Amino acid sequence: MSYVKLEDIWKEYEVKKKKIQVIKGLNLDVEKGEFTVILGPSGEGKSTILRIIAGLLKQDRGHVYLRGKIVDDLSPKDRRIAMVPQNYAIYPFMSVYDNIAFPLKIAHVPKNEIREKVLNVAKMLRIDELLDRKPGQLSGGQMQRVAIARALVKEADIILMDEPLSNLDAQVRVLAREELKQLQRELKPTIIYVTHDQVEALSLATKLAVLHNGIIQAFGDPIKLYREPDNAWVAKFLGNPPMNVIKAEIESDTIIIDNVKFDLPDRYKNIVKDKQKVLVGIRPEDMMITDNGLLEGEIEMIEDLGAYSILHAKIGDDVVRVIEKSITKRERGEKIKINIDVNKMVLFDIENEKNLALINKSQ
Ligand code: ADP
Ligand code: MG
Repeated sequence: MSYVKLEDIWKEYEVKKKKIQVIKGLNLDVEKGEFTVILGPSGEGKSTILRIIAGLLKQDRGHVYLRGKIVDDLSPKDRRIAMVPQNYAIYPFMSVYDNIAFPLKIAHVPKNEIREKVLNVAKMLRIDELLDRKPGQLSGGQMQRVAIARALVKEADIILMDEPLSNLDAQVRVLAREELKQLQRELKPTIIYVTHDQVEALSLATKLAVLHNGIIQAFGDPIKLYREPDNAWVAKFLGNPPMNVIKAEIESDTIIIDNVKFDLPDRYKNIVKDKQKVLVGIRPEDMMITDNGLLEGEIEMIEDLGAYSILHAKIGDDVVRVIEKSITKRERGEKIKINIDVNKMVLFDIENEKNLALINKSQ
């Protein structure tokens, strides 16, 4: 059995006599030593899930299993889980040593044992030189190591992290993210990390879970989900800019997008039917602005981002985002020609928006 298992979890809140169902039969299997990131927009229930795993909140229905055993009736302190909250909850007036030692002190662990454990974990995380410092004298990445040290010193081998980097400024955040990633790959704790930031999610996760509408919409290798999203919602949520999703129609072995015929990729040939209406997903990096492009788009909006520009272009009734790899000289209203890398396209069912390649596999 997986190391952390959530089985058919339901949770509702009551706000002003109105019930809101936040988690709706959620399942998740986290293996030991994985860095699992739960990615979802704000308000979708990410913190709720972590609090249920930690035992700080009771689910209405369903079961939580840790290390192969059901823990529904186990108190938070008996679950051997550490939670790293958004602000790290590092005490600014205590030294790094005292911050790490704190959970052991309140558990009345003997002093010499505390000392040995703190020194061990500090060495492992390479913060043993910093034990006398106060948190104010640490970098963002070092601060994060202290928070992790405090988790590990409790011998919690499952660490829950609730948007732990969102308080750092952009530059520090990238460094802290890389450090955290390195650290996890070295020491292999089981981490469940929640964030609304999809760049962070893609770069940190060994396993990515996309949360929306109270369930996990897609789960697996982050690059695989990026290339082969389970449904159009996931496609449009992952990536910056996200995947373009536009209407199209099949005609024998071709796919017609805005009256232009493209070869249907082989992998879809036995899946779709003649005249079937579909949604086609194409990543901006798989669309090229080129004079011999077959599709015609009209520029509606331009985002100049320095190293590149994102052009929002109208093709038929749909608006797509394409990337120009320099500051663009183009203007709104201008027409551009676009080519697509047909083999990279992903087809979704027009009704339920599921990835057609994956539906057929699971049948
Ligand atoms: P996230 O962490 O993804 O932003 P949360 O788990 O914090 O989402 O919250 C999910 C939803 O549940 C939100 O709509 C939030 O307003 C609501 N919610 C969270 N906690 C409570 C609570 N204690 N009482 C009522 N509603 C809550
Ligand atoms: Mg939250």
